[in-house]
Amino acid sequence: MGKASRDKRDIYYRKAKEEGWRARSAFKLLQIDEEFNIFEGVKRVVDLCAAPGSWSQFVTRVPHLQVLSRKLYLPAKLSPDSSDNDLPLIVAIDLQPMAPIEGVIQVQGDITNARTAEVIADYSNDLLQVIRHFDGCKADLVVCDGAPDVTGLHDMDEFVQSQLILAGLTIVTHVLREGGKFIAKIFRGKDTNLLYCQLKLFFPVVTFAKPKSSRNSSIEAFAVCENYSPPEGFNPKDLYRLLEKVGSPFGADDLDCSSGWLEGVNKVYIPFLACGDLSGYHSDRSYPLPKVADGTYQSLDPVQPPIAPPYKRALEMKKASSRGIKELEKLSLDS
Ligand code: SAM
Repeated sequence: MGKASRDKRDIYYRKAKEEGWRARSAFKLLQIDEEFNIFEGVKRVVDLCAAPGSWSQFVTRVPHLQVLSRKLYLPAKLSPDSSDNDLPLIVAIDLQPMAPIEGVIQVQGDITNARTAEVIADYSNDLLQVIRHFDGCKADLVVCDGAPDVTGLHDMDEFVQSQLILAGLTIVTHVLREGGKFIAKIFRGKDTNLLYCQLKLFFPVVTFAKPKSSRNSSIEAFAVCENYSPPEGFNPKDLYRLLEKVGSPFGADDLDCSSGWLEGVNKVYIPFLACGDLSGYHSDRSYPLPKVADGTYQSLDPVQPPIAPPYKRALEMKKASSRGIKELEKLSLDS
């Protein structure tokens, strides 16, 4: 598919380029914020699975370009009473390297490295680094837009996605302050209820939200978890043992997610909210392309192409193999 046809088919892709966002995901965060006001009182943010970086882009000269930095950094910086210590901090982590963003501390790493939370000693140095960056203070908000490379097998994709969320939750239990918020991308599927119950162990308010910029055809949604309140006496080392209990007959008393949990008094309705301007752009619709003076349409390049995309090696191999085939063909013609 050409760039122009994607521009036509995907209004948020086009708008992202026009407005200077590295990815269309920026609109999802903005629409979640419109509904949940997630940045209120927030100074320190951990952006998990952050590349290419639209959620943590940092404003330098053009203030309206970035999400987290615009919301966080500028108001603090511009306030006459603020000192440098008041400036909010953003730490961004991703498997992939990310082009630098001024004001954002970047860590390249795999968030699932810390999955075996029992072995806390093996916990990734990156995580410890995160807290160091915040001068020992914990984060007010952790966002996680992580997604595996989808296979199209929904059960499998949902499972891998839930591993990312649980890895995110592990990090949350170490870096988020009490009362803080956690926003995580989820894939809706047969285990959504279980995930909801697991998150409810730590957050009294959990809502699943579908921003308007997220296609209806996608199983993606976002868990918006508010007011981090780990169970009394909670030890992050026990996270996985605790999560395993949810969904078993020995699960948390007040949240029985076991087989009968949709019955009678145990029935739980998961709050699900569409967010974003409902009369705004529709992510599943095609829009006509704006024409310039000579009647043509100029497609813009992405704001920041990935600097080391996972498919780079595949492209190099493809190029090398087509070069090889041409050389073989030439040899056979010559002989
Ligand atoms: N929020 C980002 C933005 O606005 O630019 C987009 C994130 S993109 C949808 C998903 C990201 O998850 C990818 O950059 C991918 O590298 C990252 N990711 C997937 N698995 C990961 C893992 N195990 N650890 C760290 N990052 C991971």
